[in-house]
Amino acid sequence: MATPMSNTTVQPYPILRYPDPRLLKVARPVAHVDERVRTIVQRMLVTMYAAQGIGLAATQVDIHERIIVIDVSDTRCEPMVLINPELEWASPEKRRGEEGCLSVPGIYDGVERSVAVRVRALDEHGHSRVIEAEGLLAVCIQHEMDHLQGKVFVEYLSPLKRERIRTKLLKAQREAARDGGAAPARRPRTTVVAEAQP
Ligand SMILES: [Zn+2]
Repeated sequence: MATPMSNTTVQPYPILRYPDPRLLKVARPVAHVDERVRTIVQRMLVTMYAAQGIGLAATQVDIHERIIVIDVSDTRCEPMVLINPELEWASPEKRRGEEGCLSVPGIYDGVERSVAVRVRALDEHGHSRVIEAEGLLAVCIQHEMDHLQGKVFVEYLSPLKRERIRTKLLKAQREAARDGGAAPARRPRTTVVAEAQP
């Protein structure tokens, strides 16, 4: 539905919810960082902030290209854009931390990740840069890069836990569809879900 605001306001993308099979797709590299890609980046940032997440991979909005947006700042105004990210180094030291995911609402569980990583990626202007990250940012980068490989964090959990999460989310999606008559992925969530929360 067009509104007077719709020409100037960027609308968030619908976020795919686990166990949607489209989350399993492997993203392809971005060939050219152009206006088309910058438009996707802009809308991904709007989607991430609207959902109160700290990271979002293009896969989660059904765009299967290697694009990630992240903001782990407290002020929510330090966006990072990683296009075609490549892991150059990951610390052998790992730590188990609690993670959540915008595609797996309401579920948090422990995942073991490297405590530091070095990643090379293009920014939204197509400039190559190296990001050395530790702590929450390192976890978030690893979580989002997994998405580009078609991997959701629940894949690290036991098959039993995974099955429980799958059943729970499918039930929630059925109930949402029944109650609202809207597609579950488009329903606004009232719960605060942080992507890759420590
Ligand atoms: Zn995620």
